[in-house]
Amino acid sequence: MGRLDGKVIVLSAAAQGIGKASAIAFAKEGAQVTATDINGEKLKELDGIPGIKTKVVDVTKKDQVGALAKDFDYVDVLFNVAGFVHHGSILECEESDWDFTMNVNVRSMYLMIKAFLSWHITLPPLSPVWLMVKLDKFVNRCVYSTSKAAIIGLTKSVAADFLEQGIRCNCICPGTVDTPSLRQRIQDRPDPEQAFKDFMARQKSGRLCTAEEVAHLSVYLASDESAYVTGTEAIIDGGWRL
Ligand code: NAD
Repeated sequence: MGRLDGKVIVLSAAAQGIGKASAIAFAKEGAQVTATDINGEKLKELDGIPGIKTKVVDVTKKDQVGALAKDFDYVDVLFNVAGFVHHGSILECEESDWDFTMNVNVRSMYLMIKAFLSWHITLPPLSPVWLMVKLDKFVNRCVYSTSKAAIIGLTKSVAADFLEQGIRCNCICPGTVDTPSLRQRIQDRPDPEQAFKDFMARQKSGRLCTAEEVAHLSVYLASDESAYVTGTEAIIDGGWRL
């Protein structure tokens, strides 16, 4: 028996990294997973995995998010994973960087949660979990940190407002996770070798987190094992913050 048998789960940014690892872990535990991403080509890597259906969705587009929500009679779990990392202090953050980041990282979650909640709230049985992801280090991450702080506020607000309907909302706060976008960010630095050393130097555990380790936490939060957990920031950072 799987820990997520029969659960209907929708997630964004499932083509790589944490989203992909979580989609695979959800399906392994018996969930019916709809894995979405803006990148249709990469999403194809999930095709053929039992329990996973894929769909191309840009989570910043209200019409696409609305159409996705209407595909379902109900969902148990919505996992909002899409996010973008802008590098720089406030002085390097142009208005366009600010708007782009807030749009992908925060407005997309507003759109997804609102679309799914307003469509599904009237349709029992419902006990969805809304999960989000944020990061907690602030150097050269001005708009990124701002956007992720906003996600904590959104998490607590949704958790408080829909507690009595049995809807839970939590966010996941990883440290540095070894994903394709992290590798790309390192490559994009003027001295990638030094950038990698810098990333490693701040890992007190001596290693990076894997996407699969975050997926274990995703499974727990998506399952009934976490039935009494809501409005929380679930930290998985190998002791980075200590
Ligand atoms: P990633 O950056 O490797 O992949 C992101 C995925 O999001 C890609 O497949 C991309 O196509 C998709 N995407 C981008 N814009 C989209 C849009 N508008 N609509 C739909 N999909 C879109 O993923 P990751 O590194 O696993 O990060 C996932 C989440 O975790 C992000 O929110 C990120 O900020 C957060 N996070 C990552 C780390 C890390 O170290 N990797 C640490 C903490 C938090």
